[in-house]
Amino acid sequence: MAEPVQQTLIIIKPDGLKKSLTGNILTKLSETRLVIIGARVVKVSRELAEEHYKQLKDKPFFEDLILYIQGKRHNCERVLALVYQGPGAISLVRSIAGATNPEEAEPTSIRGAYGRITTKGVYENVIHASSSPEEAEREIKLWFRPEEIVLPIFPSKPISRKDCHFLEWA
Ligand code: UDP
Ligand code: MG
Repeated sequence: MAEPVQQTLIIIKPDGLKKSLTGNILTKLSETRLVIIGARVVKVSRELAEEHYKQLKDKPFFEDLILYIQGKRHNCERVLALVYQGPGAISLVRSIAGATNPEEAEPTSIRGAYGRITTKGVYENVIHASSSPEEAEREIKLWFRPEEIVLPIFPSKPISRKDCHFLEWA
């Protein structure tokens, strides 16, 4: 039976950027034949980091994880967030990403090839990949506004606000 078309959120974490792995990671991901439908370079606020990893807030490594994803451990306060779409996207990307623990990940997977465990025990595993359709939807809506995705993947609604402030080029 044909795989359902899915979306998945991929984040190239600060260690991936700091180690100049962006090209290698995107090349590896292109093996999936999935399509990129959104991309953003993001300076991750504490609020965004905590919301993204809210299921892990009781874990002993939570504080270190928040500092890691914010780039405070790598002096690189940005990540590259991408939305990929295609048949079976979630499990395809998870398998190319490899196991959460880089020591257990297949050596040819992204995490197996490039990840490490810090002396504090944090898995610096180079990329994030959504783990289920429900999580993918939650995460994509957290990281992207509707107009930042080139396809209407989830319902959206028009909003107009008088008191809306934003910058434009001077
Ligand atoms: N993590 C960690 N130690 C652990 C489990 C997770 O440092 O024992 C970090 C790791 O960077 C991981 C992130 O927390 O990618 C989110 O954990 P999750 O269990 O959701 O793993 P993932 O979905 O990223 O494979
Ligand atoms: Mg996860």
